[in-house]
Amino acid sequence: MSYNLTDLTLTQALSQLRSRQISAVDLTRAHLERIEKLNPHLKAFLTVTAERALQDAEAADRARAAGDDRPLLGIPLAIKDVLSTRGIETTCGSKILKGYKPVYDATIVKRLSEAGMVLLGKLNMDEFAMGSSTENSAYAITRNPWDTTRVPGGSSGGSAAAVSAGMAMGAIGTDTGGSIRQPGAFCGIPALKPSYGRASRYGLVAFGSSLDSPGPLARTVEDVARITGVIAGHDPLDSTSVKADVPDYVAGLEGGVKGLKIGIPKEYFIEGIQPEIDMAVLAAIEQLRGMGAEVVEISLPHTNYSLPVYYIIAPAEASANLARYDGIRFGPKVDKGEMWATYKATRGEGFGPEVKRRIMLGTYALSAGYFDAYYGKAQAVRTLIKRDFDLAFEQVDVIITPTTPKTAFPIGQNSDDPLQMYLEDVFTLPPSLAGICGLNVPCGFDFQGLPIGMQVLGKAFGEDTVLRVGHTYEQANQWHTHHPPVGLA
Ligand code: GLN
Repeated sequence: MSYNLTDLTLTQALSQLRSRQISAVDLTRAHLERIEKLNPHLKAFLTVTAERALQDAEAADRARAAGDDRPLLGIPLAIKDVLSTRGIETTCGSKILKGYKPVYDATIVKRLSEAGMVLLGKLNMDEFAMGSSTENSAYAITRNPWDTTRVPGGSSGGSAAAVSAGMAMGAIGTDTGGSIRQPGAFCGIPALKPSYGRASRYGLVAFGSSLDSPGPLARTVEDVARITGVIAGHDPLDSTSVKADVPDYVAGLEGGVKGLKIGIPKEYFIEGIQPEIDMAVLAAIEQLRGMGAEVVEISLPHTNYSLPVYYIIAPAEASANLARYDGIRFGPKVDKGEMWATYKATRGEGFGPEVKRRIMLGTYALSAGYFDAYYGKAQAVRTLIKRDFDLAFEQVDVIITPTTPKTAFPIGQNSDDPLQMYLEDVFTLPPSLAGICGLNVPCGFDFQGLPIGMQVLGKAFGEDTVLRVGHTYEQANQWHTHHPPVGLA
């Protein structure tokens, strides 16, 4: 064959599977070989389910031969290790869940399997999704395929690295404050945080329950749209998943941007942003204007409060959610005979430093004397942040900002400075607090050849519009045809 099967986009692979040019088994083998070659260095996968993948692929080929054409039939995908997979170890990047094999699949894993996915394995992440670099994993540091001395972003760094390096055709990540969009930006791939409630959280190990949103990372916006169509929709097992119609995202991609109003929030184009990012995002906006969009300057005045508000609310919810890890029900137990000593030793050894920091922050913010001053206040300000977006979306259809203030940073650079690490999320936190959707779209490279991403934000349940804008921009450019320089030798 004159091309590499791992260079195909998901959409191209589907059409070649349909025309019988390729088989799911060949496609899966090619990805497993690529994983075998690259994963020892990149460490995107924590678990590779090679046997299961080949079985899925054989079943997909048989089904297709019998006339089946489900939306992801025979497509090799991988899942962040925060989503429960029946019988497959699910660690959340934490020692405290080492060896834990869930007895059920998360709803979105089930939906992907029902749509015909071939499951390649589970992907590395910051412990319990807390972090922006994947350096907080208890197991391995994932490397950025564009420059392996740098981080892939986080917390879904394994997901972004796997897709960008051609080890999976698409991946599922989760985004609480930026963990899909930021690694998407750092690794140069489209990545969607759906609106809160759009995709089920059932079987997703909770971090910040009022923020967590699972979503796809893939090679092109169209690929992202295909996966979104499968995972979106109401789930009776998740009371916060919303009963709203799921549009045909792929069919909606071609409408163009003529007459569409794009808001540019002045609070996001500030001093301190890497100049190439500023230039690339503004150039992308100009290009969309040239294609018929109208560009309007807007203001989101409470933007500055997002970081402190998020770092009260997310740790508060995390401290409650993580109380269940006591060595009794899940994972390893450090047995000290007596109950409190056992809890203490299990949690002391099982959790890493960032998780402990968040539990302490959250417990403090929720404690009796401080609840109103911290948690109560943060929730009130969160409403103001959401109102900023509500007002903006009365004027505009989408909002475009940089996804990150800087491109991928070197491994180790921010690890001793939590505050600096938290600042990586300034542009992705406000939309998470507001519960709206956001898509990272690659829009260039910096002077060192590292990918740059822009963030296209839409109102809650407006995924179809952000995908259309992202697709229109992507198709007018060539960024998605660039592949990172790994595994060439
Ligand atoms: N980096 C942010 C944090 O550490 C966001 C993480 C996420 O979205 N899961 O909390």
